[in-house]
Amino acid sequence: MGPPASGKGTQGRRLAEAQGCAYLSTGRQLRKEIEDDTRRGRLAETFLEKGQYVPDHLVVDLVNEWLDQASRGWVLDGFPRTVSQAEELDRILDPEDSSLRAVLFDVDSDELERRVIGRRECGECSWTGNVTEASESGGKCPSCGGQLQRRFDDIPENFRKRLKEFQDLTLPVASYYESSGRLLKVCGVGTQEQVFERLQSELS
Ligand SMILES: [Zn+2]
Repeated sequence: MGPPASGKGTQGRRLAEAQGCAYLSTGRQLRKEIEDDTRRGRLAETFLEKGQYVPDHLVVDLVNEWLDQASRGWVLDGFPRTVSQAEELDRILDPEDSSLRAVLFDVDSDELERRVIGRRECGECSWTGNVTEASESGGKCPSCGGQLQRRFDDIPENFRKRLKEFQDLTLPVASYYESSGRLLKVCGVGTQEQVFERLQSELS
């Protein structure tokens, strides 16, 4: 968990790679379904283009389908985003399995807004970087050569809406996990490397 542009996607992918487990970004998957013009994608788009969260049942269905395929552990990015999603996840998972950890990345809002304005994403794979890195690579993805673009929901007005929704809906999720001793808080300021080291030491 983390506010928009807190770096949770980058850290989540690195963690999954380091642990050899699966990674799902629900936001990224929904954007892909929008591009592919699936039924779920068309429905999700009506919410995302207004800077709103996608309804729980849509996202829970997506995660449920995906968890069935991920047997060697997983990192979920962008889910659970509401307390009712967190309760739903606890119902899906084995109640005896106490290995679930929730991570909250902490970054102040001025720094977040600065990051959102400069964020660029690959249209083909899950690479995310900033405008400086994008111009260094000539607008092409350093990972797969795909076209780098601004995410359609990365405009300042939508950022502020998403930040407010994060505070209203997702911070209570952090409290939900904190109350059951499953929350790890990681400071998200600094280089990717520094944040990743903090993440790993929290998890070890
Ligand atoms: Zn790429």
